[in-house]
Amino acid sequence: MQAVPELPLMIAPFVVIAGVMMLILRVRPSDVPAPPPPDPAAHLEERKQVIYENLRDLNFEFRLGKLSDADYEKTKTGLQNELAQVLAEIDRLAGAAPPKPEPEAAKPAAPQTWACPKCGAQFDKAMKFCGECGAPMTAGKEETR
Ligand SMILES: [Zn+2]
Repeated sequence: MQAVPELPLMIAPFVVIAGVMMLILRVRPSDVPAPPPPDPAAHLEERKQVIYENLRDLNFEFRLGKLSDADYEKTKTGLQNELAQVLAEIDRLAGAAPPKPEPEAAKPAAPQTWACPKCGAQFDKAMKFCGECGAPMTAGKEETR
């Protein structure tokens, strides 16, 4: 009965391996909290940066003489095409996004006035207190209609 005491030593590596396997198997994708859905715009922005970087690297390598003219042109055209696609996609997403606020210049230049909510006195600039009656002009943006 001399082999028996050695048995645990012999199976120890298998126990370790089994333990590691169980650890690996336990961490299934379903156990990992799902990452938030990628923001398509952020993803495109990332791609754009990568393409810009690749173009920079390409120019750098070309200047070092590592690339033939043909290789350079071919790679550059490929990258530029990809960049154009990414930029078009960014534009498309931007177009689908809520419309941008109109530029200030596009609005008719209506003189803005602030009216006192208490006495109705009007002022051409926002004030904390009415200059006529001293009432607080909280909103400070009472536009006259
Ligand atoms: Zn007032």
